[in-house]
Amino acid sequence: MNLDIIQNKGLKLTKHKLAILKLFELHKHLDAHKINTLLNEEGNNVSAATIYRVLASFEKNGVVVRHNFNEDQAVYELADPNHHHDHLICTKCNKVIEFYNCQIELLQEEIAKKNSFKIINHHLNLYGICSECKKT
Ligand SMILES: [Zn+2]
Ligand SMILES: [Zn+2]
Repeated sequence: MNLDIIQNKGLKLTKHKLAILKLFELHKHLDAHKINTLLNEEGNNVSAATIYRVLASFEKNGVVVRHNFNEDQAVYELADPNHHHDHLICTKCNKVIEFYNCQIELLQEEIAKKNSFKIINHHLNLYGICSECKKT
């Protein structure tokens, strides 16, 4: 559980924040709408405004990372600076698959080096159709 992050940042851990954090542990990649649905299923009625506020605060404090995989909805996941990964995104069902490939990572370093460029951060998103959607 990422409670340490929250407490280290001096954020107050409210009931809502805890409920949302728990969802991230289970589902990894979530948008605000999905969080709303999941909380409702748990019988936890949290307003959309509260969810947006919590997400904004989490993002600002480095608890979550925001991805704009498509134009409609920002997707969030728990920040984990020690475990870098990139993403495959299904454009039909919005499923997100994580991957890590050290050759790709090294190639990026090489490209940067050739350009005397220092990479601070990167997100590699590959868009396509997942195996489930390919069947239909
Ligand atoms: Zn990468
Ligand atoms: Zn991810």
